Amino acid sequence: MYDITIIGSGVSSIFLAYTLLNTNQKILIIEKGKKLEDRICSDKHQICDCIECDRYFGFAGLGKSEGKFNYSSDFGGELEQKVGRESLQKLMEEVDNILCLYGGSAVSKYSTVNERLARKAEESNLKMLTTEVRHLGTNLSTKIFQRMYSELASKIDIFFEVDVQQVKKENNVFTLNTNKGVFDSKNLVFATGRSGTEWLKNQCSNLGVKQGRTRLDLGIRVEMHEQQLRSILQETFETKLSFEHEGVISTTYCMNPKGRIIRKFQEGLVMPDGQNFREKEAGTTNLNFTLFTPKYFPSLKEANTYANEVIGKINNGTDRIVVQRLGDLLNNESTTKVKMINNCIQPTLAAESGNLTSEIPQFYLQILKGFLNQLEKFIGETIDEDTLLYGMDGKFYSPMIETNRNFETSIEGLYVIGDCSGVTHSLSQAAASGIYLGNILSECFN
Ligand SMILES: Cc1cc2nc3c(=O)[nH]c(=O)nc-3n(C[C@H](O)[C@H](O)[C@H](O)COP(=O)(O)OP(=O)(O)OC[C@H]3O[C@@H](n4cnc5c(N)ncnc54)[C@H](O)[C@@H]3O)c2cc1C
Repeated sequence: MYDITIIGSGVSSIFLAYTLLNTNQKILIIEKGKKLEDRICSDKHQICDCIECDRYFGFAGLGKSEGKFNYSSDFGGELEQKVGRESLQKLMEEVDNILCLYGGSAVSKYSTVNERLARKAEESNLKMLTTEVRHLGTNLSTKIFQRMYSELASKIDIFFEVDVQQVKKENNVFTLNTNKGVFDSKNLVFATGRSGTEWLKNQCSNLGVKQGRTRLDLGIRVEMHEQQLRSILQETFETKLSFEHEGVISTTYCMNPKGRIIRKFQEGLVMPDGQNFREKEAGTTNLNFTLFTPKYFPSLKEANTYANEVIGKINNGTDRIVVQRLGDLLNNESTTKVKMINNCIQPTLAAESGNLTSEIPQFYLQILKGFLNQLEKFIGETIDEDTLLYGMDGKFYSPMIETNRNFETSIEGLYVIGDCSGVTHSLSQAAASGIYLGNILSECFN
């Protein structure tokens, strides 16, 4: 019998287990994917569409990504609402200290705060979202999580490639039926991230745990002259801007100066995604980002249906993405192949020239137009009409699960942390949620 079993071995799980190491409790981690060293689908694999991909599943979960830890409460989740601002700040400091203990200090932390620019943005009705960042990169984050694995594996049980088929609670004990046997535990933590959404939906339904509203971000990816944003970017390492339109806040995401746009395959949909300019590659003279607008749905099913109605309709059963010139959008004209050939900003993604007005809900176009107007004020020049707009990017979230302040569900002893709780959407906040629950459970056992 285990005291605490954690399902999933991603970022939130690792930081939870790490925090519990000194409690002398019997801890088990059950992971559906493989060990870190056996996860082979490379992060550079741009066209990967495998559902059970090693990129998403396995030790460290999506921590095996670019490893960009943003220490901010302005974006990356709603953990602040749960634990309070001061507590979140402390948790983030702890996350960073732990990372540094395992080698994170090999890269320096930087800040995107710039008061002069923030004031200027405000004058243009934009808000600059700032953060402290430790950007580990894929190689370093893999090394750090491997070192953390060695530490954890020497003290607790971690089992891989386990498929949990059923979770039951009887007589205050959780029983897990799996393809590798039956495990009993006094407490159970779900930490299955976004990749475990379908599995979690079934478990919650069987256990009677309520899943609530689901967020879905949709947005148009913009590709513009890199030099048009240089006045901002030369003063700050990177920029994240938010814009309010009729009470809805949209935010720029994944800004790539000199970068390219690539296809992203997720949730059975094909979307335009940004690719970083890396030193080894020849950079472009373009810059791209998505302006994401959140929308909330009563359930995951409804969020997925909407995403399919919008993005799936554009894809039309293929990998179709539509691109339009800004000038054509403003003049309510289609972009033709010929116009595109003569466009001074050349698309870095092969997409179908067309008319976004007939492809996506007006709401997103209105927001984008409003944002670009304010951006023009901010940079002090008109945005080139040859700027390209790609429809349509999406960011998917897990449904919110009803829990108390301690991440405990309506079932005593059953907790849910990280992205699968619907509360966090970033490495730092997922890790912080793990430490937070770790501290609570440690107190229970002392
Ligand atoms: C491509 C990509 C890049 C990203 N880059 C960044 C970034 O640079 N910075 C940032 O802040 N955020 C980034 N994010 C978001 C960030 O990675 C997540 O917010 C974070 O990893 C969430 O941590 P988690 O522990 O909740 O889930 P995860 O890290 O996803 O871990 C979930 C774990 O559960 C396991 N699992 C799933 N289902 C089951 C099951 N049924 N049984 C057992 N195990 C299961 C998975 O294999 C995985 O190990 C990125 C996301 C993506 C998709």
